[in-house]
Parts: sequence; structure tokens; C-alpha cells
Amino acid sequence: MSDAKIRLYVDHPLGAGQSVPLSREQAHYLFGVMRLGIGAAVLLFNGRDGEWRAEVVEAGKRGGVLACAAQTRELQMPPDLWLLFAPIKKARTDFIVEKAAEMGARRIVPVQTEFTNAGRVQRDRLQAHAIEAAEQCGGTYVPEVAEMARLDRVLADLGDRQLMFCDEALAGAEDTSALRDKPGPWAILIGPEGGFSDKERARLNGLDAAHAVSLGPRILRADTAAVAAMTVWQQQLGDWQ
Ligand code: SAM
Repeated sequence: MSDAKIRLYVDHPLGAGQSVPLSREQAHYLFGVMRLGIGAAVLLFNGRDGEWRAEVVEAGKRGGVLACAAQTRELQMPPDLWLLFAPIKKARTDFIVEKAAEMGARRIVPVQTEFTNAGRVQRDRLQAHAIEAAEQCGGTYVPEVAEMARLDRVLADLGDRQLMFCDEALAGAEDTSALRDKPGPWAILIGPEGGFSDKERARLNGLDAAHAVSLGPRILRADTAAVAAMTVWQQQLGDWQ
């Protein structure tokens, strides 16, 4: 058990004896808000090199330096699962990204569908939410949040990835046990508040890799649906088994 209470994501290589410079914001958080001083321990991760116990060696108002002492955990990659979702209202979109990072998505892709009414998303802000979620949930990996792209384009980029198409039109109809027969890379697709258009539904149902599923007999809000779909997938094919 480490004596360090704070976990921090840094965009810097980590390794034995490695010095890690802090940004102004990180220094403000560690030394101004959390009141850490020289010698205090912090857990660092960068999404590549696992988690490291580091100690404060320089502490200032505008910056500081930590020195890596020992690796506390190896990098643990989540399963190869992407979450594709049509952005909704800002706070609910933030929620979806946060939960996707906590629940073990490897990549998060905002998708423009016909009935998506969120014009654009701030990718950097969403990426920061994914980082914060990884910091608090103990993850050593941070999922990339991609730029928003049109559904056609996203489908074309799936390669040999299976697609769990969460279709509200099937509410209560299909069960999801068929997913178990298809190990390998997957993506989950969640539609917007207005659901999928008939044209999109026909296109999706025409894809060999797409598996239309129901998430139960009630129509869920998109943010609830994202969490429910990831739960179902993780239990059947992911790292919860
Ligand atoms: N406006 C749509 C309607 O009334 O039918 C509901 C869209 S729902 C709020 C947003 C998304 O969540 C859907 O496009 C779908 O991906 C997913 N979803 C919600 N409930 C679902 C269910 N029971 N089965 C499958 N997907 C569901």
C-alpha cells in the first residue's frame, strides 16, 4: 500500500529516477490546494508506463519537479472496446465520457448522426474529463477522445471490429447473449435523444459486423444507455469476467 494519496496524470515519460516537471496548474493543485511539500509522495501515470510513486523535489507557485522512485503498478490496458455515441447536452456528454473512461473504454468517439443536435464538441475538454476519471478510478490508461465525425465515416473506420448497435426500436425484443460468441475488438453505438433515423437503422442492420441489441423494455436516456451497454458488454466479453 502506498503512502501517496494523490494520483496525477502527467504527459511525460515515467521510469526509475526520472524527473517529471509540473505545469503551473499541477503545481497550484499539489502545493497550493493540497498543501504538499518537499518529500511528499504522489502517484503518477501517463497512460503508457504504468503507475509510479514519485516524490516532490522542487515545489513552487508556478511549477515544480517530482522524481520517480518506484513503479507501483504496471500498465493495465482495458479491453479493445470503443464507445461511439451521439453527443447530447453538455453535462450529459461529460457524464458519458467520464463513465466510459471509468468503465474501461479504450477509445471514445463522438458521432454525428442525423438527429444529433449538439453542433460540435470541445474535444480537449472531453479529453480532460477522461483524464480526471482515470485519475480518480485508479486506471493506468487514458482513453483517447476522438474528434467528432459523421456516422458514415466512423462506420468506415471500424475495420474488422464488431458493433453492438443499441437500437431503441428493439426495446424489450432481443437479448444480448449472442455477443459472447464474438471475441475480439468491439464498438458500442449509442444514438442521440431523437434516436436513429430509418435510413441509419437500415444501413446499420445491413452491416455484417453489426449486432442490433435491446437494453431492456424501457427507453433509456442516452447517458444511461451508454453505461448500461458498457456494463452488458463488460460482463459478457470484457475484463469483468
Ligand atoms: N427518441 C428515441 C425514442 O423515443 O425511441 C429514444 C432515443 S434514446 C433516448 C437514445 C439512445 O439510447 C438510443 O438511440 C439507443 O442507442 C439507446 N437506447 C435507449 N434505450 C434503449 C433500449 N431499450 N434498447 C436499445 N437501445 C436503447
